[in-house]
Amino acid sequence: MPIRSENRDRYPPDWPEVSAAIRKRAGNVCEGCGVANGALGGRDGSGRWWKARPKGESMARLDWPEPGEHWWCDLDGREPLLLRIVRIVLTVAHLDHTPENCDPANLRCWCQRCHNLYDAATRRAGIQDRERKRAALGDLFAGGAGG
Ligand SMILES: [Zn+2]
Repeated sequence: MPIRSENRDRYPPDWPEVSAAIRKRAGNVCEGCGVANGALGGRDGSGRWWKARPKGESMARLDWPEPGEHWWCDLDGREPLLLRIVRIVLTVAHLDHTPENCDPANLRCWCQRCHNLYDAATRRAGIQDRERKRAALGDLFAGGAGG
């Protein structure tokens, strides 16, 4: 995920070095799914990664599908599946969403999908937490109203 402009000042001055160290720790592959930075391919319904293959050759050069294009993947001989081509761009994420917390244990080198899955789970947990608090407040008032 790109750094939001309103959060830019919250990153330490050595963030480029910190981020590079985390990418190096990860071997420049996603720490969630293992896909390499810069890889070109698509994901099936289960999230499995399929590396793109050249569409053909022109002027003695391989012709690769472009990100955003749809591509028929034969899934190792199974029924062909239409996948949307993406280019993997690894980013370094803060597990606690706090840019100031650059403890390596708080940082993960992730692809777009793994980062989004984590953020969605965090958002769901936040919603559930707020709903639990609201329900607890409701119980409190319901209990008090009867007296
Ligand atoms: Zn991933």
